[in-house]
Amino acid sequence: MRIFDPHIHMTSRTTDDYEAMYAAGVRALVEPAFWLGQPRTGVSSFLDYFDAITGWERFRASQFGIRHHAAIALNPKEANDPRCREVLPELDRYLRRESVVAVGETGYDSMTPEEEEVLETHLDLARRHGLPVIVHTPHRDKKHGTQRTLDAIANSGIAPGLVVLDHLNEVTVDLVADSGCWMGFSIYPDTKMDPQRMVAILQRLGTERMLVNSAADWGRSDPLLTSKTGRAMLDAGFTDAEVDGVLWENPVAFYGQSGRLDVTPLPGFELGAEAELFEGNSILRGAAAVPATATATATAS
Ligand SMILES: [Zn+2]
Repeated sequence: MRIFDPHIHMTSRTTDDYEAMYAAGVRALVEPAFWLGQPRTGVSSFLDYFDAITGWERFRASQFGIRHHAAIALNPKEANDPRCREVLPELDRYLRRESVVAVGETGYDSMTPEEEEVLETHLDLARRHGLPVIVHTPHRDKKHGTQRTLDAIANSGIAPGLVVLDHLNEVTVDLVADSGCWMGFSIYPDTKMDPQRMVAILQRLGTERMLVNSAADWGRSDPLLTSKTGRAMLDAGFTDAEVDGVLWENPVAFYGQSGRLDVTPLPGFELGAEAELFEGNSILRGAAAVPATATATATAS
């Protein structure tokens, strides 16, 4: 199973997670900009973070055989803080970077006028840069929030095919299915959306324009939920091709619209390289799915 996680915050994960993700089939991911957990107090805090997710984190992922791309935005939680909104004029230059394949995540959290203005700014940035955009839907008052989000997207003039509405569920997915936008689902260990519920949605609506991610933010999360959803699909009778469609082809098609996506295997991780890497290694002593050279580099740096 090859997996492209279209929305995962690797900044909050460990190297053990990278190893486990590679072993489960993850070969590419997109890390959208999000909040820091604690409040940011100024623009420089964003700039260091944007540099990290477009540079350092990309390098860190490559040590584990995973292609890393980023999405850049002021996230909805921080859109209400005037100290944070000062970052908006800085976004333009980050959106020109080769490692950035989308604007995001933006959207509504509490649906304030400030969030509305910031969402409009992001949709305009995406339209002007010709980039896809990841739009977060609120976890409270979800149906109303999703409809309001769709209205803002329609008013912005951006092509629906460039937009994914994320964190959808059974209550909101039909609104988005009719809009032409992509449908994103964050799968969580014990809240909001799980693999079985995801499978039921795929059985009802099909696999077109569907994106499944493991989010992996500061809350309790599991970066292998993409793989677990793939297995749940197979158990429910979906074909390998359908699983590959949802977990690989769909995110490649969506982010490929940026013209910047690179999902070729990293040097040392090409097909066939793995067999050699595992030679002499036993699963029993917990062989890592990472070449010895990569591990050594990661340890040394
Ligand atoms: Zn997120």
